[in-house]
Amino acid sequence: MHDTILEAVGLTKEFKGFTAVKEVNLQVRRGTIHALIGPNGAGKSTVFNLLTKFLPPTAGRILFKGRDITAMRPADVARLGLVRSFQISAVFPHLTVLENVRVALQRHQGTSFHFWKAESSLHALHERATALIEAVNLTPWTGHTAAELPYGRKRALEIATTLALDPEVMLLDEPLAGMGHEDIERTAALIKRVAADRTILMVEHNLSVVAHLSDTITVLRRGEVLAEGPYAVVSRNAEVMEAYMGT
Ligand code: ADP
Ligand code: MG
Repeated sequence: MHDTILEAVGLTKEFKGFTAVKEVNLQVRRGTIHALIGPNGAGKSTVFNLLTKFLPPTAGRILFKGRDITAMRPADVARLGLVRSFQISAVFPHLTVLENVRVALQRHQGTSFHFWKAESSLHALHERATALIEAVNLTPWTGHTAAELPYGRKRALEIATTLALDPEVMLLDEPLAGMGHEDIERTAALIKRVAADRTILMVEHNLSVVAHLSDTITVLRRGEVLAEGPYAVVSRNAEVMEAYMGT
């Protein structure tokens, strides 16, 4: 039912003789929420950096939509539809929420500023920006600058500017980090909505949210896959529990 959209095969990364990621095999199925968890230093961020081509692997291959992207540049991978939050979509603190989303949309279009001067295009741009802002529940903040947003809303804006790039797979690195209870609930609901027509791979420490949101969880320990499956399966794994208690 769900075909594999993103795959790592024997992914390995060594830093000066230290193996941070060791022969990791990962299959992310289209349309799912897939979480990558593990104790500090397990290699989660390194796997993200490898998948988005910010780091070259020592060994292994990465396939996206059946295509080998191992040798591709980050920008080309993003153009194909594999986008990490904050990768291309910077949030400009002194621009308003609306302006930030418009800039992200314009950059995605890759068209010149002049194109958007045409009345109809400007209208389309505004409509699209407004819809994205609505989608992340930022409508009341439309006219505020990014700098004025509370922390959780700022992260929502970052998700909006990433969505502006219309990614097929969105990688989120600790989307709930530093959030209070209310923002966590709001952002979890947002991730769920985003996943309705996209694929999400996220690194997240909040286990109850991971349990609630994820179709599949991959547990990393010391650079290796320790366990994989739905939460009900992974949480019954004694080694997984030990890995968490041990830190
Ligand atoms: P996690 O995100 O799971 O906490 P990381 O992927 O950041 O783990 O790190 C995995 C291991 O690789 C850690 O031991 C870390 O110190 C090491 N590491 C990460 N990046 C580098 C680097 N650029 N140079 C050397 N060691 C690194
Ligand atoms: Mg990390």
